[in-house]
Amino acid sequence: MENQSTKGIRGEKEKRARVNRIKMSILCSLLIWMALSFFLCIFLFVKVISLEHKLDYLMDHFVIREEVETETETAQSTEVAAYQQLDTELLSYEEEQYPIAQAANFKENLANPGDPLKVYLTFDDGPSSNTVRILDILNQYQVKATFFVIGRQDEASKTLYQRIVEEGHTLGMHSYSHKYGSIYASLEAFQEDFSKIQNYLFEVTGQECLYYRFPGGSSNQVSNQDMSGYISYLNSQGITYYDWNVSSGDATSQAFSPQELVENVVSDVVKYKTSVVLMHDTDKKNATVEALGTMIEEIQALGAEIMPIQEDTTVIQHIAADSVE
Ligand code: ZN
Repeated sequence: MENQSTKGIRGEKEKRARVNRIKMSILCSLLIWMALSFFLCIFLFVKVISLEHKLDYLMDHFVIREEVETETETAQSTEVAAYQQLDTELLSYEEEQYPIAQAANFKENLANPGDPLKVYLTFDDGPSSNTVRILDILNQYQVKATFFVIGRQDEASKTLYQRIVEEGHTLGMHSYSHKYGSIYASLEAFQEDFSKIQNYLFEVTGQECLYYRFPGGSSNQVSNQDMSGYISYLNSQGITYYDWNVSSGDATSQAFSPQELVENVVSDVVKYKTSVVLMHDTDKKNATVEALGTMIEEIQALGAEIMPIQEDTTVIQHIAADSVE
């Protein structure tokens, strides 16, 4: 009897110990699982934050220059370096996004032998530290061009907007901020940026700008949106936008020499009755400035006429404005 009850107690104890072991192992698994989930959450959280930062960086990737007023000299030079870096990235990006964009009127615009050739030199992204040199060269050759500028508040830039207008060049708009992320965020954002540059240039020069160049062109893939909303807005404002059908290549990552830039332009200019030539006016585009004199000479040697964009200029657009409601 006694033996049996001892056995019974022992059996009971073993059973409990087994149950406890099972409980412990369940508890341990639970704790491990919770700990793993906890670390996974932390990991994902950190990942989300870092992706957000990356996204912010990409959204503001196209900042040309922030206004620098109260910063120290060191901060200023860092800013300028960052600006130049971003500028290069921006321009190569702009260029590389749509290398094969063709003007909507490509066929009708092809030149036949004997057709007069009209060439419109356009400079995007200015004013910059190179604008004076560009204007001086244009002056020297008595040639007028078109500047698609962005919004810069410093006094030197204000003088340059005025000089562009006073010397008979066409002052066009190229957005105020040139930040793709914000300009193309929504139609409202685009309209706001547009009004800002339009009003600002009117305030500074007393002249109304009638021409626009979309950052990235009307065929850009950067906006990631249908461009028709922006196009019909410009149509409603009586603004004509110009893309280009000849690219100097000064914004590609290839770093063309001045002579190569000239060749890029001259070899294409002969193809069209109207050529709108894409160039850039930024601090770093020295090759463009160095190419300009020879480029003008070689274009003129073809018998082509160099002119600023005006009311009667044949429109060169990748997406035709009249194809949009
Ligand atoms: Zn641009």
